[in-house]
Amino acid sequence: MNPVFNQFINIQFPNAISLTIKREDLIHPFVSGNKFRKLKYNLLQAKADNKNTLLTFGGAFSNHIAAVAYAGKEQDFNTIGIIRGDELLDKIEENPTLKFAQENGMKFEFVSREEYRLKSENSFIDKLKEKFGDFYLVPEGGTNELAIKGCEEILTDEDSVFDFVCCAVGTGGTISGLINSSLPNQKILGFPALKGDFLQDEIRIFAKKDNWNLISDYHFGGYGKINLELIEFINTFFEETKVPLDPIYTGKMVFGVIDLIGKNYFPAHSKILLIHTGGLQGIDGMNIKLKQKKLPILTTND
Ligand SMILES: *Cc1c(COP(=O)(O)O)cnc(C)c1O
Repeated sequence: MNPVFNQFINIQFPNAISLTIKREDLIHPFVSGNKFRKLKYNLLQAKADNKNTLLTFGGAFSNHIAAVAYAGKEQDFNTIGIIRGDELLDKIEENPTLKFAQENGMKFEFVSREEYRLKSENSFIDKLKEKFGDFYLVPEGGTNELAIKGCEEILTDEDSVFDFVCCAVGTGGTISGLINSSLPNQKILGFPALKGDFLQDEIRIFAKKDNWNLISDYHFGGYGKINLELIEFINTFFEETKVPLDPIYTGKMVFGVIDLIGKNYFPAHSKILLIHTGGLQGIDGMNIKLKQKKLPILTTND
């Protein structure tokens, strides 16, 4: 793992508010950010259980699928990805995430959206065992107890100076880890990348404190949805700071934090830590979609 560092964001904000970003995206070129944290103890457990195959689930541009494929190869596991959407079967070459996963040895099983919904049911898992033999199951998005244990290592002693810690939320695993290792006087703010009210309950399962809040106004229409304003924000933020953000998670979170600063959400002199959870592998796939829609592309990968 590469060393993670806190980068001060050299932009002047009102009320002497300061932003710092924890560059978890630099942990590893392919297994970046929180997906590395979430897999760490799961892979140790898989080894301890003598499993030689990892099986997991994900969508077409999933950071988690890319991470499992790469980490699996590095640590000598076979990997199987159950992918949502059977129309993708003959589109692997056009999809940078699936292509990357396949090049790293992942085998795919494409399932319809209806079937994909059954993914946590025993009967579905049993069928997969019949087909593929024994495996270590990594849940969709990688969230389980061991993943949260890994995410509890994101914050370190030097982060005790921050008043707010902000992160993007998908399944809620990462924020749960941050909450558990935060100090009682710190506030953890989660920015869901998708619509829906179920996250609150998910986080309560794993989080051991209640110094947190979800801010649900910055999903931009739902998971994977983006608009011109967000693209321009990410490109400008990169020009000003040289920090690349991804369009699915971190871009929406940082947009939200800066918008809230403008709305006086934070008290004067607040020190805010943004968690860069990675996800930059998704930019190429997003740019293909943006070109098809004749929208400007993300210019953050140079
Ligand atoms: C998966 C992911 C998240 C969401 O993490 P959860 O633990 O599922 O909430 C946030 N940011 C990035 C870049 C991710 O890939």
